[in-house]
Amino acid sequence: MARVLRGDLLAADLCRTVAEGVLQMQGEHGVTPGLAVVLVGQDPASQVYVARKMAKATEIGIRSFEHRLPEDTQEGQLLELIIQLNADPAVHGILVQLPLPSRFRADKVLNAIDPAKDVDGFHPVNVGRLSVGAAGLIPCTPLGCLMLLDEVIQHFRGLKAVVIGKSNIVGKPVALLLLERECTVEVTHIHTRNLPEIVRTADIVVVAAGSPRLVRGDWVKPGAVVIDVGINRITAPDGRSRIVGDVAADEMGHAGVVTPVPGGVGPMTVACLLSNTLRAAQMAHGEGECRQDELSSRRRSKVAAD
Ligand code: NAD
Repeated sequence: MARVLRGDLLAADLCRTVAEGVLQMQGEHGVTPGLAVVLVGQDPASQVYVARKMAKATEIGIRSFEHRLPEDTQEGQLLELIIQLNADPAVHGILVQLPLPSRFRADKVLNAIDPAKDVDGFHPVNVGRLSVGAAGLIPCTPLGCLMLLDEVIQHFRGLKAVVIGKSNIVGKPVALLLLERECTVEVTHIHTRNLPEIVRTADIVVVAAGSPRLVRGDWVKPGAVVIDVGINRITAPDGRSRIVGDVAADEMGHAGVVTPVPGGVGPMTVACLLSNTLRAAQMAHGEGECRQDELSSRRRSKVAAD
């Protein structure tokens, strides 16, 4: 049987580490890390995500500032709020919940966030830093995937990794992080030919397609590590609504490791957001710059040594 790699447990562990970091910042600098979350409109899924992030932030001692803006907010008003948050020393991290209503230019809004407070890691400056291997804030879901992989893989060098999905939010940054670990990375997408054959070559499969049961058992080589990022709401045969990933989980018995959905990458995304907020606060107070993915492997080494 494949090992089920529980992201909820690792996320709880990471949140404890972040909570300790928050206490340390308060003790050393008299500063409490602050996270501002901006939500425009009434999208039900976004409301749930924002509530979850704010509650977790508060639980571990991060100050959260919630800005709920009505559906008819103008882009200029949102940009004005971002300028204020950029200038506010109590705010170390700014997250604008996506998707924004379609009339907003999301790139313009995200580009307005100070890169030093860009805890989602979507600003072009942070994307550029990631691509050249420099210190910056790394997108939360890809960082969470890497931390999960760090739990089960000691030596990445030379492993073949296949990433399914090429979005700016997940697929591309995951591929960059795996390249930085010196994997041989193949990025695939909806127009890729022979996807099953490509996936069969992989030691590591990261799936972020948004397509339920896309990755079947016979696509996955025995012993491979499979990270399922997908979140899909489906109606099960019993008529109930369920959340499933992009992997046919019941066919993964021969895989080495599989992350579950729910309880896999999702909780890691929230934990990494809080970790990024602490990191942004530390950097604002002059603590040394270091890539978060390096911190992930150092953390793993420390746990192994303890
Ligand atoms: P997206 O729609 O922006 O990108 C999807 C990518 O998958 C595209 O590059 C597309 O070409 C590719 N794709 C789609 N269908 C495919 C197929 N049949 N074969 C091969 N490639 C295919 O989506 P996204 O924002 O990257 O999110 C992907 C999934 O991950 C979604 O289910 C989303 O809900 C989930 N997600 C989860 C978390 C989390 O915290 N767990 C965070 C972000 C996204």
